[in-house]
Amino acid sequence: MYRAKEQGKNNVITYNSNIEQRIIDKLTFEVELRNAIENDELVLYYQPQIDLETKEIVGAEALLRWNHPTLGLIFPGDIIPFAEEMGMADELGEWVLQNACHQLKYWQDSGFPSLKVAVNISPQDFLKNGLVERVKQVLEMTKLEPKSLELEITESMTMDVNHAITILENLNELGVQIAIDDFGIGYSSLNYLKNFPIHHLKIDRSFVNDILNDQNDVKIISAIVSLAHGLNLDVIAEGVETKEQADFLSNLHCDQVQGYYYSKPVKPGEFEEILRLGFMKHE
Ligand code: C2E
Ligand code: CA
Ligand code: CA
Repeated sequence: MYRAKEQGKNNVITYNSNIEQRIIDKLTFEVELRNAIENDELVLYYQPQIDLETKEIVGAEALLRWNHPTLGLIFPGDIIPFAEEMGMADELGEWVLQNACHQLKYWQDSGFPSLKVAVNISPQDFLKNGLVERVKQVLEMTKLEPKSLELEITESMTMDVNHAITILENLNELGVQIAIDDFGIGYSSLNYLKNFPIHHLKIDRSFVNDILNDQNDVKIISAIVSLAHGLNLDVIAEGVETKEQADFLSNLHCDQVQGYYYSKPVKPGEFEEILRLGFMKHE
């Protein structure tokens, strides 16, 4: 019955053992995920964000991983959708936010005061009430300056314009930064760029992938950069895997980059090492 309801009203689903297995999987997953939070099996990996002009690391995107005791490392694509289905998006979101803010505060206090952290917000979390209050509490608890925290949302989350504008304005009042993630592949209303209090556009990596071969991608990126700069927004390109791509993006006046060319997402200890090496290089 629940499976049928999930797929919308007036649906008929026939019972079979796969469904039974799915229900068991879901229940196991829910229990395991709750335990994972308590047993410190969840980890945030960090991927550096680099300023193309200064070549300095200016921030890090926090990306969720689950060190599962028997299944090994599980990636967010296999965690977030289930967590949303189980109604655990807010619990997970809170864990991510608290950990990312704590970690950043620690790094700021240990010699990298201007570093920022970007945290992904799940669609369900964005739609529910409570996000703004949670962000406020975590900032107070960790004593992190609001401007050091960037929240990444996607275009599709802004489809309910009235809801989005209220949440974004409240977040903006707290002083946190907002980035539109995966920009260019979702529902796009250019109107919201004008009306929403946002600070960064993150160009989706599908445009960056083929930038050296596909003239259309070049034109799209170039248009996104001038549109963003015209509106006083910074542009960050994700999925940069080669030096050539980085140079090309620099020529297109992209502000920041992120991708395997610089570093894969890494554990906090490794990120700290990269930070120290990066800064030593510029001393
Ligand atoms: P995203 O926000 O678009 O994050 C970028 C994804 O691209 C990450 O995958 C990252 O590992 C990968 N990536 C980074 N650089 C490169 C590159 O140069 N080449 C390629 N091919 N890939 C690159 P990951 O960590 O598996 O995360 C997947 C998605 O899961 C994220 O996409 C984000 O939407 C979501 N996610 C991750 N962490 C969280 C979280 O804490 N909360 C929520 N709600 N969602 C999260
Ligand atoms: Ca992201
Ligand atoms: Ca993205």
